[in-house]
Amino acid sequence: MAVGVLALQGSFNEHIAVLRRLGVKGVEIRKPEQLQDVSYLIIPGGESTTMAKLAEYHNLFPALREFVKTGKPVWGTCAGLIFLADKAIGQKTGGQELVGGLDCTVHRNYFGSQIQSFEADLLVPELVSKEGGPETFRGVFIRAPAVLEVGPGVDVLAEYPVSSTNVLYSSSAVQIQEENAVPEKKVVVAVKQGNLLGTAFHPELTADTRWHSYFLKMGSEAQEEASSSIVPVGVD
Ligand code: GLN
Repeated sequence: MAVGVLALQGSFNEHIAVLRRLGVKGVEIRKPEQLQDVSYLIIPGGESTTMAKLAEYHNLFPALREFVKTGKPVWGTCAGLIFLADKAIGQKTGGQELVGGLDCTVHRNYFGSQIQSFEADLLVPELVSKEGGPETFRGVFIRAPAVLEVGPGVDVLAEYPVSSTNVLYSSSAVQIQEENAVPEKKVVVAVKQGNLLGTAFHPELTADTRWHSYFLKMGSEAQEEASSSIVPVGVD
């Protein structure tokens, strides 16, 4: 089993290192044809405008979109999540090309600029029920996006409570600060839609390998579903 990691820019080495710790080979993807040899794909965090320019330069967009449609698992972390979203809003998104496929609207740099990066313990019931371990997962948010709208087929895996102190910069900050009288305001930070997984934070920068294990299991689940839908000839 080989897992492709888009290696144009950003934290691809860190993802490959986690995969290695799980005994899985991570393959750096820089050319469209390399996608034919892998059964999973991770799109890492980094800077989505730069990544988009490099992907365009290497003519990767058609092959990436094709890969998403095959049903093979694809996971976008942070800038990778932006890449996978059908729509991106927020700072400097005008004209930015996206792979798409994930039925959601993502707000770039939702929590602010680089110095407003932060870490937080997240409750992720789905991850804990499949992988066990501690009740919470340490989320590393670096100039992170948030998911503001999700389509009907999208499962929300994790949310983060927004306070007026950690939203100072985004265009929605004003609205959120006004609404701050409602204490339970939350934004979505992890989603799953069929074969697509998106996290606004960086699991590859922690020692916790549960998100990577969870992602790898999405591949075997997809195979099981495909084989259980095959009805043998002659069987009612
Ligand atoms: N804010 C970055 C972008 O818009 C993403 C940051 C990250 O991947 N850590 O691309």
